[in-house]
Amino acid sequence: MTDGHDQFAGLHFAPAPDLHGPVPGPRSVALLDEQAALESRARSYPRAVPIALEEGRGATLRDVDGNTFLDFFGGAGALNLGHGHPVVAAAATAQQRRLVHALDFPTVSKNALMRSLKDRLPGALRRTARFHFGGPTGSDAVEAALKLTRTHTGRSPVIAFHGSYHGMTSGALSVSSDTSYRRTDAASVQFVPYPYCYRCPLGLRPDSCGLACAKLVETVIADPHSGTGPPAAVIVEPIQGEGGTVVPPPGYLAELRRMTAAHDVPLICDEIQTGFGRTGSMFGADHDGIVPDVMTLSKAIGGIGYPLSCIAYDEALDTWEPGAHIGTFRGHQVAMAAGVAALEVMDETDLPGHAGRLGELALATLRDACATLESVGDVRGRGLILGVELVRDRETREPWPELTAEVRRACLQRGLIVEVGGHFGNVVRFLPPLVITRELLLRGLEIFTEAVRERERVPTVARVAA
Ligand code: PLP
Repeated sequence: MTDGHDQFAGLHFAPAPDLHGPVPGPRSVALLDEQAALESRARSYPRAVPIALEEGRGATLRDVDGNTFLDFFGGAGALNLGHGHPVVAAAATAQQRRLVHALDFPTVSKNALMRSLKDRLPGALRRTARFHFGGPTGSDAVEAALKLTRTHTGRSPVIAFHGSYHGMTSGALSVSSDTSYRRTDAASVQFVPYPYCYRCPLGLRPDSCGLACAKLVETVIADPHSGTGPPAAVIVEPIQGEGGTVVPPPGYLAELRRMTAAHDVPLICDEIQTGFGRTGSMFGADHDGIVPDVMTLSKAIGGIGYPLSCIAYDEALDTWEPGAHIGTFRGHQVAMAAGVAALEVMDETDLPGHAGRLGELALATLRDACATLESVGDVRGRGLILGVELVRDRETREPWPELTAEVRRACLQRGLIVEVGGHFGNVVRFLPPLVITRELLLRGLEIFTEAVRERERVPTVARVAA
């Protein structure tokens, strides 16, 4: 057995990382300056990762100054097959010559994608699933899932979780917890604690809590005096991504499934970040063996970064009217053809298995390396969705967002691109393309631990002065 890494070795720039000077280099600086003069204040990533991009290959990215980076950000989890996978790119190019725009007409590529997806859904959904393609972003899929469940149940309230992130359009934002983003009225959304065991909101310990936070959700759903009323849906991320790579304890999602079914409440699993092999299984909720009523799918569904999203749901919910959820860009044929090719590559290469094996290696490596780093409070994840929570003090667990930002910059200066998330902006997040090799993964983790070691030793006085 090759364990996958040999078959993926040729997909990346080599050597990587490979820097030719300080970052950002002069050509990046020129483009960043021009961007700053032209684009909105709301732009975000180039502030923390100041480079201008030229070309991507596999798990590596090259900037306009010829610097090559290891990409542990992977297009925010969209690039499970990496940048520019040649087989997927060829399928997309061929489709582009035939047909690009098709609204919701049937096409060979679209129907093939629905069949391929259906074959991979969990449990009864493999038999009963219907698909709906709306706008091309993850947020659009969340909007569709909310509309579908509200239409079907005739109810309005939705239960979402502390630490959730479901997108930026108004419905998706209303079920996202970060109040710095959410200025809209969230009256019909009730937020309940997610099982964030490192910072248990109920002050309990996972070995003895008896899943008390799940019981709390059942109270909100079932108690006529909970102030919520019977909800139209519960929406949950099987692993919270932007919330800081928070992995629920075993049994939690199964308990959520049991109680939502018992009270006749549709369960929406937002698999936008956890789907398509990311966690070591096809979907994030597969680890708990649950079958949701609705799944939201996006990011990696478009193969190598083409925009596409859809919901997959139990046909019993298919009670909305024809034309109930329309949109001009709901039939991106290139993305669909790329998606079909990507699913084939995933099967042929056992990409989820590869991600699962590398994930275990990464967790063991990080836990080992981080044992001697004072600022590492927690290391967690599953497959190749990984997070390291940085704290000022391991006892008090006080978050350390300033150090986290410094570590991100120090990683970039060494040729590694990482993401930052979490309730307090103190979780370094890794979402590398699943086609990464063992060697590149270990090199990236080494760079990260070097960066933490360097930055946590900086005396407070020097940090303030800087
Ligand atoms: N849901 C989850 C779990 C996400 O991680 C994201 C984006 O990060 C979204 C929804 C929103 O997707 P998009 O940014 O494509 O609108």
